[in-house]
Amino acid sequence: MKYTVITGASSGIGYESALVFAARGKNLVIAARRTEQLEQLKKDVHDINADLDVIIREVDLSISENVYDFYESLKDLDIETFINNAGFGNFAAVGEQKLPKIESMLRLNNEALTILSSLYARDYAEVEGTQLINVSSGGGYTIVADAVTYCATKFFVSAFTEGMAQELEEKGAKMKAKVLAPAATETEFADRSMDTENFDYQGNIPQFHTAKEMARFMLDLYDSDKVVGIVDGETYEFQLKDP
Ligand code: NDP
Repeated sequence: MKYTVITGASSGIGYESALVFAARGKNLVIAARRTEQLEQLKKDVHDINADLDVIIREVDLSISENVYDFYESLKDLDIETFINNAGFGNFAAVGEQKLPKIESMLRLNNEALTILSSLYARDYAEVEGTQLINVSSGGGYTIVADAVTYCATKFFVSAFTEGMAQELEEKGAKMKAKVLAPAATETEFADRSMDTENFDYQGNIPQFHTAKEMARFMLDLYDSDKVVGIVDGETYEFQLKDP
């Protein structure tokens, strides 16, 4: 039985992505810290297709050892797709940020994503049909003032994943690595990322996508041969970088 793993599935883009992958008939591993939301998601998935297997993993991926334990807990599963979606932002100027929050963001957005991508590539690079999808951001291609550190974490995600995609292609590996770079999306993200009164996330951004729309873009990227899905305003494009 094959599985799609989605981190950060308890709300927002991850939650809705789980539903679109379920509608495609994919068995799921859904991971996050909040199990009540994951239990609700499991019910929602079974409303779509009662035959699907849904495995819940409660995990705080901002703690380094948990990342290895989480991956180890999946060792008996056949993972067709691995989606590193869990992440959060930090809206405050450099020098004014709360440093424990920054540390946690770096560990989640970068360390956990890098370790999980590496372990997945180690085990599945030669398995036909496998995909790694890492969630970056529009801020992973353009730096925004008062969100500089967050954007830098997402530049890392974009660079790391595009680099992986090139390596895999050059080696003739079977696995594909892809980046989804969402534009502003109405989720818990803005509230959870706020570290200052001075940043107006809603006011700065003219157009918000819904999490459902973003999940559709995720599925489009999954279906596409391209490496990068950039979602911006009401349009999106898939760009294939030169190797
Ligand atoms: P949400 O806050 O709704 O979802 C974030 C998810 O990440 C939740 O399921 C949360 O679950 C999980 N998460 C957060 N911290 C941890 C942790 N320490 N360990 C495990 N899981 C964790 O926001 P979005 O859906 O918007 O965010 C999804 C991704 O999209 C993120 O990577 C974000 O950076 C990116 N993004 C979002 C944009 C937006 O405007 N919304 C724009 C561009 C990119 P729990 O708290 O239960 O652990």
